[in-house]
Parts: sequence; C-alpha cells; structure tokens
Amino acid sequence: MDYDLIVIGGGPAGMLSAATAAAKGLNVILLEKNEKLGKKLYLTGKGRCNVTNYGDINDFFDNVTTNPKFLYSAFKSFDNYGLVELLNSLGVPTKVEQGNRVFPASDKSSDVIKALQKHLQKNKVEIELLIKVKKITFQNKQVTGVFLNSGEQITAPKVIIATGGMSYPQTGSTGDGYSMARQLGHTIKAPKPALIPLVIKENWVKKLQGLSLKNVSIKALLNNKVKAEQFGEMIFTHFGVSGPIILTLSSLIRDYIAESTNKPVQLFIDLKPALTLEQLDARLQRDFNKFSGKQLKNALDDLLPQKMISVVLYLSGINIHKQVNQINRNERLLLAHTLKNIPMTVTGTRPLSEAIVTSGGINVKEINPSTLESKIIKGLYFAGEVIDVDALTGGYNLQIAFSTGFLSGVSAAEA
Ligand SMILES: Cc1cc2nc3c(=O)[nH]c(=O)nc-3n(C[C@H](O)[C@H](O)[C@H](O)COP(=O)(O)OP(=O)(O)OC[C@H]3O[C@@H](n4cnc5c(N)ncnc54)[C@H](O)[C@@H]3O)c2cc1C
Repeated sequence: MDYDLIVIGGGPAGMLSAATAAAKGLNVILLEKNEKLGKKLYLTGKGRCNVTNYGDINDFFDNVTTNPKFLYSAFKSFDNYGLVELLNSLGVPTKVEQGNRVFPASDKSSDVIKALQKHLQKNKVEIELLIKVKKITFQNKQVTGVFLNSGEQITAPKVIIATGGMSYPQTGSTGDGYSMARQLGHTIKAPKPALIPLVIKENWVKKLQGLSLKNVSIKALLNNKVKAEQFGEMIFTHFGVSGPIILTLSSLIRDYIAESTNKPVQLFIDLKPALTLEQLDARLQRDFNKFSGKQLKNALDDLLPQKMISVVLYLSGINIHKQVNQINRNERLLLAHTLKNIPMTVTGTRPLSEAIVTSGGINVKEINPSTLESKIIKGLYFAGEVIDVDALTGGYNLQIAFSTGFLSGVSAAEA
C-alpha cells in the first residue's frame, strides 16, 4: 500500500482529520482538487471565520438542527475548548464576541488556514493539490484506495471522505463525496439548502433592497400557528430577505416551506419588539404632537428608517398625504398594529448553491457514531458537512467539521 490513510478534501474537516491521524503515527496523504486548501473556510464569517462557539455542550445540541445525537461522540472527543486550545498552540489567539461566537483575534480566516497548514506540515502529512478523486476502490467490503480523475490509483487500507456539501460550489464543494459513497452502497439524504435567504412574494420588498433592520423580531406562521420566532438583524434584498435572523429562521422552518406550496409560510416583522402596542401608541402620540403641522409621511422620521416609512403607511392603508392632526385614534392604532406586524409571504428559498450549509448527506444510520467508520465498508470514514448533519449560525457548523475531522482521524489511527 502507498499510504496508511488517504483523506479526500482539504477543508476544515479533512485538514484536521489528516493532521490528527498523522500525529498518531499514520503515513497520510491529503488530496484536494483546488489549487489551495480551505477555500470555503476562507469565506467564513465574512472573512473573519466564526470558528466555534464558547457555550457549553448543551448549547451545541440545541443548535444542531439535524441529527444532534449522532454528534455526541464527536463533540466529546474534540470540543470547542479543545479547538481554541489547538488554535492557540498553533499561534492563533482567539476572542469571544456576542453570542459566545469565537473568532481569531486578528479577524482573519487566513490565519486559521495557515495554522491548520502548519499542523499538517508539523505532522508530515503529504499534501497534494489540484488532484480530484473520482472514486474509492474496495475489495471484499474493505477499502483499498482511490482512483483519481487523471486515471492514476493511490492505495491505502483507510480513506476518509471529507468533501463537504453542495453549497458555494465555486469553493470545491460539489457533492463528489455523495457519489463516491453511493457507489460503495451508502444512501444519501437528499441535499437541501440550510441557512439560506428567503424569497418573498410581495413586490414592496424590492423597494427596500439594501435596507438592514437591527433589533427587530420576526415570527413565522403556518396556518396561523407560530412555528418559529427570532430577534436580531435582517436585510431586504432584490428577491426577498436575508441576514442573520432570516438564515436561522430558514433552517427552523425548512420543513414547512417544503410542504407548503399551496399554504405558504407567512412572516411578520415586529419593528418595535421592545414596546407593547399600548407603549407604541403612546410613542406615536408623542411624535404626532411634535410633528402636528406635518404630513403623516414626514412625521415618522424619529421612529423608522426613511425607506421604511412609505411601505409601513402603504401596508396600513392610511393616506400618506394626511396631516398628522387629521389622524384619528383608530388610524393611529392601525399604524401601531402595522409597525408590529409587517406581513410577508415566503414563496421559497434561494438555491442550494447560495446556502451557507447543506442539509442532507450521508445517512447517519450507516455510520458508526463512535468512530465515524462506515457500517458498510471497512476502512471508510466520513468527516464534516458530507454527513447528514447541520447546525444554526454561531460557529457550530465549523465545530462539527473540526470535531468529526478529529474523531475520524483518531479512529483511523487506532483501528
Ligand atoms: C459564505 C459562508 C460562510 C460561512 N461561515 C461560517 C462561519 O462563520 N462559521 C461556521 O461555523 N460555519 C460557516 N460556514 C459553514 C462552513 O464553512 C462549512 O460547514 C465547513 O466549511 C464544512 O467543512 P468541510 O471540511 O466539511 O467541507 P468544505 O469546507 O466544503 O471542504 C471540502 C473540500 O473538499 C474538496 N473536494 C471536494 N470534492 C473533492 C474531490 N473529488 N477530490 C478532492 N477534493 C475534493 C473541496 O474542494 C473542498 O476544499 C460558512 C459557509 C459559507 C458558504
């Protein structure tokens, strides 16, 4: 055999699995089809890399949206504190921000990539770039190596598939691992977008393109029942809505979006969640006294961003040209109600290529959670987003990649 272990994919999961197995004495080769390692990692956290979350283990289970229990051993073998310690030891100090989000102190994802490269080199992993694996070879249900696109074969008794999901395909994550695993008898849960912007039916959202709203609350309803609620920041786009709370909502309501073609999910934005309806009415009365000589459309500047005013008035149905002193109590209450219930209809999500993560992937029932070895083919392991696991924003997805990378590396070395 050419090597003890072949790792396919040089993202966070593949890099950590290769370095971990090599540190335990295996002769490891890491194959990456791009010209450099960690192309997607480079984009994470808008280039700042929200590498993990500093909350406790229960937060992790609460924030994993698909198959949290499957990840128990992986998180136990290498947790968020272990990752921070490793990065620190590789010369990358970290900092904790709002919501326990951990970033490199430099705010540079490239520093995390450099640290992982250092870890690989220190442990003498052979790194081959611009090498695309075509398929995995096996005999008698035991891995024997890989075939490359070039027609070449590399042999090893163990292979880790760490090829990622299918989102942002320009970074190399094009779902290759799914077809490799399928050829070996594995089943794949259909890949779908998760953490994805939402497409909205109403045309007025286009007028607000580029407007971001902070400290708003959004409820998602199906058949008049609240299915999820989020508080924080969002942004209007040319197709609908995006931003942190929308991405999170998209994961929480994805089943309802999928099943609701003729009964769509409704979103309601509360622009003033800190105020009750009564408090908001009192606030409107104060503003109306201040601006009593003005037209209504010029009397809401203290309360709303300029772009939002005409939309709110349009949705409330109140004549925007009315003088403030002509507004009666019912109209004022209607306005307050609209400010707390801006309605939008979800018609779908943006495509998988634009998702932050892929939900779906290798069926976890076919993977041993304690080792991440395939239950079908001996010597075959999985790590990272290629597995049917995904989480909310906050550093949880990268921690999944690192924890499963670590556990698969240790398991391959100890098997
Ligand atoms: C814009 C964006 C921002 C994000 N920000 C964050 C964040 O701040 N925090 C967070 O926790 N998560 C974030 N994520 C999610 C996170 O980046 C992924 O969950 C993580 O990168 C998955 O790691 P992975 O190693 O499993 O796969 P990937 O990072 O996708 O790596 C897979 C690698 O395998 C290679 N490969 C694929 N097929 C082959 C083949 N046939 N032969 C050889 N090589 C192959 C690919 O080229 C790629 O380099 C973000 C994602 C995106 C798109």
